[in-house]
Amino acid sequence: MGEFDLIARYFTRPVPTGGAVALGVGDDCALLTPRPGMQLAVSSDMLVAGRHFFADTDPEGLGHKALAVNLSDLAACGARPLAFTLALALPALDAPWLAAFARGLLALADAHGCTLMGGDTTRGPLNLCITVFGEVPAGQALLRSGAAAGDDIWVSGQLGDARLALLALQGEIKLPPTALAAARLRLERPTPRVALGQVLRGVASAALDVSDGLLGDLNHLLRASGVGADIDLTQTSKLIAAHALFTGASACFDSDLRQQCTLAGGDDYELVFTAPAAQRSAVLQAGADCGVAVTRIGTTSAQPGLRLWDAQGQLQPLRHASFDHFAP
Ligand code: ADP
Ligand code: MG
Repeated sequence: MGEFDLIARYFTRPVPTGGAVALGVGDDCALLTPRPGMQLAVSSDMLVAGRHFFADTDPEGLGHKALAVNLSDLAACGARPLAFTLALALPALDAPWLAAFARGLLALADAHGCTLMGGDTTRGPLNLCITVFGEVPAGQALLRSGAAAGDDIWVSGQLGDARLALLALQGEIKLPPTALAAARLRLERPTPRVALGQVLRGVASAALDVSDGLLGDLNHLLRASGVGADIDLTQTSKLIAAHALFTGASACFDSDLRQQCTLAGGDDYELVFTAPAAQRSAVLQAGADCGVAVTRIGTTSAQPGLRLWDAQGQLQPLRHASFDHFAP
């Protein structure tokens, strides 16, 4: 099997008629037709073996995750997924690996009506780069820059379990098997909040998705909006689904680990967003409509900077840095 057989076998499927993709895999370019009044939302994410995932990671999960992290960016903008391209570097042509990868990738793509419309395939160290295209009514995309002082700060779903799984897989902590299995799903099969992002258009004032850790990512939103924030640690601590474990006697589930996971965990792919207090019931309704928990974790402020408050109303130091590929 050569490069072109590989593309034909694993990554070429009929393009759905009547959708945004006018021409799919097989020509020099694919063609996408945005509907009138819509803007295209475009985002790329690269996953590198050894950096973002272990080279022996289950390929089906990897296919899922490679697309999920990109769909999460569309969700954060309130965009509806349309199509994506896949640029793939493979060390060798491994048919079972490719079949499993394509299965995970295309199952998630189908679940979101997001068509694989093209890409590139080359030999090289294992590396996956996906670019997604979504549509959003012109002028309605959720941006990082829209928060005003006094807005509520919200988080969708859970935070911290992906990091907990990573720490367990790296042998730094021990988790009971059932807890590890649940946490691993969060690490390896993240759920992009695509429906929630779209429902939040016109409700949220600003949004982004948490890929590198809550505090670091929230900081991007705060800077873009020119506001500060006060965060309630009693709320963020509850966001880790393995929360129940932390009530146990085991010393390793201490509050420092809990904070490290929830505040700086990374790989969560939840949405952090702000909304005026007047939108509280609309936010709760949006979460209910999409079957996703939404938790209010703080308030934006005219006073710059990020402040963490504990259950006793004491200011806690900012200890947990977010992930940065080029941090010195
Ligand atoms: P070109 O040389 O014109 O860039 P290629 O020979 O690289 O085109 O690719 C042939 C066709 O297959 C193109 O339509 C391209 O978009 C598509 N393609 C290549 N690799 C992939 C992939 N991994 N997934 C989906 N489509 C792919
Ligand atoms: Mg090419």
